[in-house]
Amino acid sequence: MKVLEIKNLSVKYNEHYALQKVNLTIKQKEYICLVGKNGSGKSTLLSSIAGLIKKHSGTISFFADKGDVAYLAQNNMKEIDFPATAKEIILTGCQKHMIKPFYSKEDEKLLEEISEKLNITSLLNKKIGDLSGGERQRVLLARTLIGQPKILLLDEPCSGFDVQTIRTFYDILDELYEKTNITIIMATHDLDEIKNNKIRVVELDGTIVFDGSIEEFNKK
Ligand code: ADP
Repeated sequence: MKVLEIKNLSVKYNEHYALQKVNLTIKQKEYICLVGKNGSGKSTLLSSIAGLIKKHSGTISFFADKGDVAYLAQNNMKEIDFPATAKEIILTGCQKHMIKPFYSKEDEKLLEEISEKLNITSLLNKKIGDLSGGERQRVLLARTLIGQPKILLLDEPCSGFDVQTIRTFYDILDELYEKTNITIIMATHDLDEIKNNKIRVVELDGTIVFDGSIEEFNKK
């Protein structure tokens, strides 16, 4: 089942094209890794899908509700001093319940389940600023998951982390992928650390220059 179709997408900043004529069809439960050197357009593609870049030509069509798409931006919260606990941060992800009380009993139950999956139960009452980078990224992932998205967009979720933290994060993501019907589209430089062999690799260099299985990609 198709969840997303991108046709002839071009994005330019000032006079410079970041993406040109990108065509991509994505089915439910695909695990897509966007690869390519810095500046090849990975973030631009993810931001366009997330609806953050409005000025583009071409079309981006969803075959799911807009609210079913969650986006986790690059790990750029290295220094934060914010007086909220991990639990409070995660519950702000319940966008579907923006009425008072802003989260429900079901959301709390979901919080429990997701926290177990992501191995963050013991962190829930800690201040977000007191967590390590890897812990914080898992909390932010929980925040995106509590809205129960069908499509998860991740932009280099592990940049700046040590190898062990990177492995833990991708193992958790793998388990989430295996146990649900989620579609993952992730920009990453860590293909070697991702054990899932069902990955579809989409390589960008201003446009799509490779689209195939990880096996085919590795033979290149
Ligand atoms: P990647 O995520 O693969 O590193 P980006 O999508 O960030 O690539 O960038 C693609 C191209 O667009 C690069 O040439 C980059 O310099 C340019 N670019 C990205 N964001 C902006 C912006 N906000 N303003 C101007 N140019 C940008």
